[in-house]
Amino acid sequence: SCISEEKIRKIAGQFDFTGELVSWSPCGSGHINGTWLLRYRIGNMGSIKVILQKINLEIFQNPDELMENISGVTEHLKKKIIENDGDPEREVLNLIPTKEGKNYLQDADGECWRAYIFITDAVSYDLVEKPEDFYESAVAFGRFQEMLADYPAETLHETIKGFHDTKKRFQTLKKAVECDSFRRAEKVQDEIDFAMQHEELAGIFGEFLQKGEIPLRVTHNDTKLNNVMIDIFTGKGICVVDLDTVMPGLAMDDFGDAIRFGASTALEDEKDLSKVSCDMGLYEIYVKGFLESCGDKLTPKEIELLPMGAKVMTYECGIRFLTDYLEGDHYFKTDWEGQNLDRCRTQFKLLSDMEKKWDIMQEIVNRYKPE
Ligand code: ADP
Ligand code: MG
Ligand code: MG
Repeated sequence: SCISEEKIRKIAGQFDFTGELVSWSPCGSGHINGTWLLRYRIGNMGSIKVILQKINLEIFQNPDELMENISGVTEHLKKKIIENDGDPEREVLNLIPTKEGKNYLQDADGECWRAYIFITDAVSYDLVEKPEDFYESAVAFGRFQEMLADYPAETLHETIKGFHDTKKRFQTLKKAVECDSFRRAEKVQDEIDFAMQHEELAGIFGEFLQKGEIPLRVTHNDTKLNNVMIDIFTGKGICVVDLDTVMPGLAMDDFGDAIRFGASTALEDEKDLSKVSCDMGLYEIYVKGFLESCGDKLTPKEIELLPMGAKVMTYECGIRFLTDYLEGDHYFKTDWEGQNLDRCRTQFKLLSDMEKKWDIMQEIVNRYKPE
């Protein structure tokens, strides 16, 4: 997040707004994009704030497609928000075009930048500290799903190919076990066995999709709490941000990943597995918020499969960590030896816990599903 004054002035100057740039600072704790908050003075009229982001081209190789997704989805959301008398400057991300009328800027070094109107009087939290915030994130992601239910999901680009293709992730794990390039397989035979015993989870959604029993949806794919802006006065979730991974996908995947991450009682790399479980209180809160805001837009099959989404996403994440451990930790950054194995173990523990609580998980969804 280091950037020279000259550079930031040069980049910012190419976006289509006026005013005098008076200050800038790194913003948020996202670790994918570089994000800066820029303050502008406009005559004597006061100041405006703008978010400037450098797109991570290592992860997203096709900025045209990525920005086309974001433009399409935010325009659609904006229409819905206006129809519902909402605030189109705070409840959806607003892209600021470049002076040439493009939705992002490619600079002389090949780096790509975009600008958004700053969402005022709102914060985002990294961890669930208050259950209310988790509830608000469920409402916000549910509303996102609700407003995009009539968006043609198949027109979106896959910004990361096969992101939740659990079957493919499973095949990759099998290959990693066979190759065993780092001679680690023997040490993790229990985890490999667990993954193999749960192979069924890898194919279940793909089959339903193929048979036409569940629809393709617009999905967010990074449904973490810190991607929801919470109003500092009302405590309400007002806007979903971080739309890089918006793709065609399954409603259960967004729901499931939010549970996997947000309803876990421990961090993803906790070594003491006795601390890891799926908190049914938090799970219920999320189910409630999510179904209250989008329940009537989901099909009965999708609603029935929500708890399965939590299991599938937890399984998928676990096998990805295991694969990376077997392949020598080349994908997920590690701070200690075996961190990816620790991460795999928390996910498998979480999955086992969900299996124990399976009846309750289904009963809770039943309780909150629309009549
Ligand atoms: P990353 O992919 O790196 O997580 P995000 O798009 O989530 O990037 O941005 C990082 C953080 O910046 C967000 O969590 C949020 O707090 C803040 N942020 C992003 N866009 C805006 C905006 N338009 N207005 C206010 N804050 C924003
Ligand atoms: Mg983010
Ligand atoms: Mg992101």
